[in-house]
Parts: sequence; C-alpha cells; structure tokens
Amino acid sequence: MADDRPVLYVVGGGLSGIACAEFLSRGGGRPRKVVLLEARPRLGGRTSSYRESHDGLTHDTGQHLFMDGYVSTRALLRTLGTEDQLSFLDPLSLYLMDRKGKLSFLELPLHNGQMGLLSGIMKFPGLSLLSRLSMLRIGRALPDRESSVDHLDARTFLRNNGQTSEAIDKFWELLIVSATNLPSDRVSAALLVTVLKESLFSASGPKTLGYNTVPLASLIAEPAVRLLSKRGVDIRCQTPVSRLKIERNRISGMLAGKEAVAMGPEDHVIMAVPPWSFEDLFPMERINDPLIQNVERLSRPSPIVSVHLWFRDPVAAPMITGFSESPMHWVFNRDLMMGRALPAVPRERTLVDFSYSSPNSEFYPARMLSCVSSGAEELLEEGDDTLMEMAVSTVQRLAPGGSKKKLSFARVIRERYATPVFPPGQGVWRPQPQSFLSNLWVAGDMGDTGLPATMEAAVRSGFRAASEVEIRLERRTIEERTSGPRARGEGVR
Ligand SMILES: Cc1cc2nc3c(=O)[nH]c(=O)nc-3n(C[C@H](O)[C@H](O)[C@H](O)COP(=O)(O)OP(=O)(O)OC[C@H]3O[C@@H](n4cnc5c(N)ncnc54)[C@H](O)[C@@H]3O)c2cc1C
Repeated sequence: MADDRPVLYVVGGGLSGIACAEFLSRGGGRPRKVVLLEARPRLGGRTSSYRESHDGLTHDTGQHLFMDGYVSTRALLRTLGTEDQLSFLDPLSLYLMDRKGKLSFLELPLHNGQMGLLSGIMKFPGLSLLSRLSMLRIGRALPDRESSVDHLDARTFLRNNGQTSEAIDKFWELLIVSATNLPSDRVSAALLVTVLKESLFSASGPKTLGYNTVPLASLIAEPAVRLLSKRGVDIRCQTPVSRLKIERNRISGMLAGKEAVAMGPEDHVIMAVPPWSFEDLFPMERINDPLIQNVERLSRPSPIVSVHLWFRDPVAAPMITGFSESPMHWVFNRDLMMGRALPAVPRERTLVDFSYSSPNSEFYPARMLSCVSSGAEELLEEGDDTLMEMAVSTVQRLAPGGSKKKLSFARVIRERYATPVFPPGQGVWRPQPQSFLSNLWVAGDMGDTGLPATMEAAVRSGFRAASEVEIRLERRTIEERTSGPRARGEGVR
C-alpha cells in the first residue's frame, strides 16, 4: 500500500536534529515518516570525535562538559541507552590556579542544598573573605526575568551587584567564558543569570558537572544511528540541503544532495543547522524576511581551541583544573576521564600538599592531557607551535613532569565555528521554532531557549520544534476528522 503519510524532513544531524528526529519517530499511536538529512559523512555535528593516528584511539575534537541540570540532554541519552556513560562529580570539585600559580581546591557538597554552596565557597582558599562573601550575595541579586538584564554585559552586572575585582578576575571570568564562549565584558548578563540559576544557585542547591567516559561519537552519533534506523527514520548523510523553493508561503521543494525533492502539501522541514549555514539556504529574494535577518545577526561564531598533549612518561594532574587570567582556560586529565588506568605517580611529583581528602582531590597519572581555550578569537591565528608551547607551559605550572622535552606528540584543533554567541541585546533575535513559512521550523543551539549555545540548548530546541510540529499535525488530523465529509464538500449536492 502506498505510504501517504506526511514527510518530516529534519535538516542537520547534530544533537538538535537527532533530538528532533528522536521525538518525531517515537510513534505512539501515530508513527511519523522522518527523513534526516546531514551534509557530512556522519551524524553528531559539533559533538564529534576523530581517530588519532598517534595512538590509534578515538578522541573528541573538543572536551565537552555536561551539567547535572541538562535534563533534556540526559533524557535523550537515556533513550539512546548511553546516559550511564556520563560521570558526574560528587562533590563538585575543581582545582583553580591563579596568575601567580596559587592552586586552590574548590569543593561544593551537593546534598545539603544551598548550605553546600555556602560551606564550599566559604572554605575556598583561592579568594579573600570579602570576595567570598560577595560571591554568596550574587544569588539574591539574580532577577526573576533574565531578559530584564539582557541589555547589560555580564561584567557590568557583576560589578553592579557588589562583586569584587578579585572575584570577577579569578572566578567569574573563567566560569563565564567557559559557559558562554565569550569574555564577561562582551556577553549578555541574561545568559550569566540563566547559567547561575541552573548551576550554582539552583533552588535545590548547586548542580554538578559531568563528562563523557566514552568518545562523543559513541555517546551520541552511533547509538542515534542505531535507534533512529530501528524506528524507520531514513538517515541520509553526505546530503547537504540547498536551494529551498518557496511558493505560497511554504517550502515547496529543495535540493537534497543532488536530488530535487518536491514537498507534498502536508510535508514539513525542520532546519536544525547553525546560523552560519542557515542563511545560504534561502533564495536571495527572501533575505529581508525577519527570521533570516535575525539569524544572520547571530551568525558570528566564537572559536574554541583545543590542544591535546601526549607525554612519554605519565605526569600527575587532577581531573579538571581551571586557570584564571590565562590564555588557556582548562587542563583535563583525559586518561582519568576515560578510565584508562595508568601506573601510579610518586606523590613527590605533585605540587599539592593535601590538607583534606576528597574523592576528586587527588592528582592522577596521565599520558594524555587536553588544554582548552574558549572564546579564543585571539589564539585562532597563532601557529601550531605557539599554541603547543602555551599548552605545555600551562600544564607545567600544574605538573612539573609535563615539560616539552617529555612531550611525545601534540594535536592542535581550532574550531573556528564552535558556537554562536549572544552579546547584550541579542536575545530577542534568537529564533522561535515557528517561522514565516507555514511548513518551516527552526531548531539548533541558537534557538530561543535562554541558555548559552550548548548541548542542552540544542536538544531543548530540537525537542521543542518537534513538539510544535507534532501539535500542528495533530490539529490537522482533528480538523479533518471533525470537518467530516460535509465540510470537505463530499456527499453534498
Ligand atoms: C570544541 C567545542 C566544545 C564545546 N563544549 C561544550 C560543552 O562543554 N558543553 C556544552 O553543553 N556544549 C559545548 N559545545 C557546544 C555544543 O557542541 C553545541 O552547542 C551543540 O553540539 C550544537 O548542536 P546543533 O545540533 O545545534 O548544531 P551542530 O552540531 O552544528 O549540528 C548541525 C548539523 O547540520 C549540518 N548541516 C549544516 N548545514 C547543512 C545543510 N545545508 N544540509 C544538511 N546538513 C547541514 C552540519 O553538518 C551539522 O552536522 C562545544 C562546542 C565545541 C565546538
């Protein structure tokens, strides 16, 4: 029998497109016909992994951290069967090193609600008492409506709310550039407020951070292909979509790879591509449509630079160390995160005298460390050698064994198009799922979720666009049923 169900085309196989296809293919009483079109050879988009020739292993192109409060991402991973391959820090514990090389341990207990935050910050030795007290006060300054501070940059918001310069430079700046991929004086304060409400100052107490213990491709793209294929989703990789044809306020056709696709009257397109890909899809005469203009304004990406380092002998490093007032922001102990056991490192090779013990406070041996710089516009044009030197000297401040002489290999990965960013006043340009065309929907991390452009923003916006399409389809079915033959003009003389 001919399959006359409407076709739902999801364009873009990143996290957002995967979330969208997963939602639409759930079936329930009404299995949908879903086609997922991806330009690249693989799904996953910016959550990507590669095979490293140096050690023959699969590594992520860039370290991704997950927040405990990523409810939609975690729900998606649960459906994909991989949520248990995330590991969350309990207690939330990090080392932070300042410009002068002072290393301080921050530990926030998770099970005492706001008391955990209070006690953790008060015990943090990296800031003066005045700065610590000011940090605690910021919780009370968070407005109910984030949009009320969208006109401000995050640094001004912090200053206006009594944060000391020390707290801003040694703590907030690192948190902000890592969470939003822009420095604090260039990013909207609305994003900072959202991040704080969903992390440190969540009503139920501080939320922790997590990381993937398998490569991102095994966490997301590969199980997504398995699940979606099983549900009958038609996944077409290496199929870039271009040349949308617009007629009578709807998309009537498009080019998918080399194939010209004619859209049926009930077919829909969900565009889950980043803003910089979005604008090329539309015909020139539509560039004045407000959605395209707004997306165009959002299409200036901010880069992330990662330098993966391999040492001949294991060096000792904590799982996660942040560096304030430094061009490199984080050093990750990749062997520890991926559960690759290495021989123990003698204690004398660590820098820290542990005053108290916590499960996450130790230094662990690693051959592979990864250094990351977010909002890295200034580093983008530096040569590989310079970036590698920068990364090694950052590691060396932490782990004396990590000298250049002992380095066996380095891989520099520049992600020029890492994330869209949202400076003050730009929140209003973030697109809703509905568009100016009746069968076009928009998803992706630029979508209007209020979050920075993150995995959670991508998944939330993918689910949201899919649920809006689902509502539209349901409404249509009900209209058809209730209108009956009389309203359709059948059987009426
Ligand atoms: C180095 C790095 C580190 C990051 N760290 C974190 C982190 O720690 N925590 C966090 O939450 N987030 C992090 N992010 C951000 C996160 O990866 C993204 O926000 C998220 O993956 C975006 O998903 P998306 O589906 O919206 O877009 P994408 O992943 O970009 O997916 C869009 C897909 O559309 C495809 N496409 C584009 N144009 C077309 C076309 N014309 N036809 C067909 N297909 C098309 C692309 O090939 C791509 O696969 C990081 C990003 C990077 C780069």
